[in-house]
Parts: sequence; C-alpha cells; structure tokens
Amino acid sequence: MTRAAVLHELHAPLSVEDIEVAAPRAGEVQVRLAASGVCHSDLHTLNGSFPWPLPAIFGHEGAGVVEEVGPGVTNVTPGDHVILTWLPYCGACRQCRRGRPNICENQGWSDAGTMMDGTVRFTGATGPIHHCTGSTFAERTVVAAQTCVKVDATLDLVDLCLFGCAVMTGVGAVRNSAKVQPGDSVAVVGCGGVGLNVIQGARIAGAERIVAIDRVSAKLEVARALGATEVIDASAVDPVEALPDGFDHVFEAIGRTDTIESAIGLVAPGGQALLIGMAPVGATIPITPLDLTVSDRSIRGSWYGGVVPERDFPLLVDLYRAGELRMDAIVQRITLDDINAAFEGLRRGDAIRSVIVY
Ligand SMILES: [Zn+2]
Ligand SMILES: [Zn+2]
Repeated sequence: MTRAAVLHELHAPLSVEDIEVAAPRAGEVQVRLAASGVCHSDLHTLNGSFPWPLPAIFGHEGAGVVEEVGPGVTNVTPGDHVILTWLPYCGACRQCRRGRPNICENQGWSDAGTMMDGTVRFTGATGPIHHCTGSTFAERTVVAAQTCVKVDATLDLVDLCLFGCAVMTGVGAVRNSAKVQPGDSVAVVGCGGVGLNVIQGARIAGAERIVAIDRVSAKLEVARALGATEVIDASAVDPVEALPDGFDHVFEAIGRTDTIESAIGLVAPGGQALLIGMAPVGATIPITPLDLTVSDRSIRGSWYGGVVPERDFPLLVDLYRAGELRMDAIVQRITLDDINAAFEGLRRGDAIRSVIVY
C-alpha cells in the first residue's frame, strides 16, 4: 500500500488515502519519494483553471530513490537517488533538435493523465487514478525514465526535491532565458519558491542591484538572506512609483494580471520583462506597443527555466554543493497529512515553500 493525496473533485480537499501502485512498464521507473514540494502551479489544476481528468494525483517537485525499473531503462538502476523533472520530451522533434526540450512538440500524451502508453499505474478504492507531471503527492510513483536525474546519494533529498521545479524554473529563467550579466539590475515580483530562486540565480550571475517585491514581510526577509539588495513591500507602496528608474530584467513569478502589468511597468529602456508565473488560461493584459518599440523593451515568457536537463541539473547541483544555492531558508517541512493546509497557505500567499517529507 502507498499513501497518496488524491483529488476526486474540483474545489474539494485532497483526500489522503491508500492506493496501489503497479510495476513500471517499458521505459518507466518506480520511485519511492523522499520529499515533494507543494508548488503554486498545482493550485491551477486543483481549482480547475487547467482542466485535468479526475481522480488524479498531482505534485511535480519530487526527489527520491529508485525502487524498480521497467524493461529498456538504462539511465538509472534500483537504489539510485534521483531528482524528478516534470517535463518529458521526445528528443527528436524540431524544438528538441534545436536545444529547446522544454517546448517539445510531442508532450501531448501527458495531458491525458496517463503514462506514455495511455494507461495508468495508480488504483484506488474507486478505480483507476490519473497521473499528472510525476504525481509526487504520493509515497511512491511511476514516471518516465527520462524524467529521472541521478544525483549523489550523499546529498539531502529534501533540499533536492525543489530542484525539480522551483530551482530550475527560477535559476533557469535568470541564466537561460534572461541571460543576466554581471552588473545588471534585476527586480523580482513575487517571492515564493520560484521568485526566491530567481533572486539566488541573479546573485550568482553577478547582478548588482536585486530588488525583491512581495506583500509578505517574512518572504522579503528570506529574499534579503538569499541575495536581494533591496526589498519593497507592495502592500505599502506601489512598486512602479517607488522604483521609477526601472530594471534591466524584471521577473514576474506570481501569474496575476495586476502583478504582470506592474512587472512590465518596471522594465527600464533596453530591458525585458520575463513572465514565469502562470496566469489563468485566457487572461489578457493591455500593452502599449510604442513603449516597447521606441525604448527597445521586451516582454517574454520563460517555461521551466529553458531547461535542458542533462546540461542544467548537474550545474545546479554543483552550485548547491558549493553553498551558492541555499535551500535551508526556503524549505518548510510538512507531512502528507498537512497538504490541504499547505495549499491554503499558497492561496493566501503567505507560504514560502512547503515540502512534504515522506
Ligand atoms: Zn512547480
Ligand atoms: Zn521533442
């Protein structure tokens, strides 16, 4: 038996219950999870903003130990410690060939809530349960082998689970998407798990001025500890009025239309806004094209930090080993039974990063 948090219907609490996990099939790996982060993106599936077949097990920020591998798996063996990425890719399409596996053209199969062969490995009291991006809200999961990144067994899997989403998304946005250079100025709107890793990434990249913007003072304190040179409490002042000079790179890590507009308003001439937070499906914002043209400003998205897993994860783990990437100030340990409270914290906006320790 495996304990898992299952969503049976939208807007209802997750149900922590016993499920059966079937053996991995060809190209698949069964992983006993050590930890899973509770990421803001999962809220979108919980509240129906991103339609998903139910019942389902969500969670996409995990690390653990390989228990069993299916036929044909060569990258990991039982006993290996792994970080799970949430984005399988084909390696053969045009985007994969041009080094952009984060926007692989052949990911559609995962939207069915199944493994790549169209079937599921989870069964509960009421029947089959769907997968979603790794399904890390369970003591045990089955994933595509390709989403397993082997790491040194001496490293702390509780810290490393955050590399699967928050660290890769945040630091990758700085390095791969924005290409922040020494001396650049950076503002970060939203200091949750992803935003705090943008701040760490900007410090490592040598940004000179790093301004953290949030409405929760506890998050701003952590931002300062991780490298922010200034903090702005957006519940007290309008950031656009308080920071009239603007920034070379402005990262929006919330996904609300008002904070996205604020982020765009903070871009200096020649600078760029990077939209990392996931806005609701269909949400729109007004833009003034001439402001972009005559001042050479740009607005762009950044998906999963522009990840190329085999290139980026070893580098991030090296930065962690060297003490450059710190997880101690970010990780807030909880148990699987606390998962609904953790989502309430995300809804309120005061959670930093709850991490379920199994
Ligand atoms: Zn995430
Ligand atoms: Zn592809």
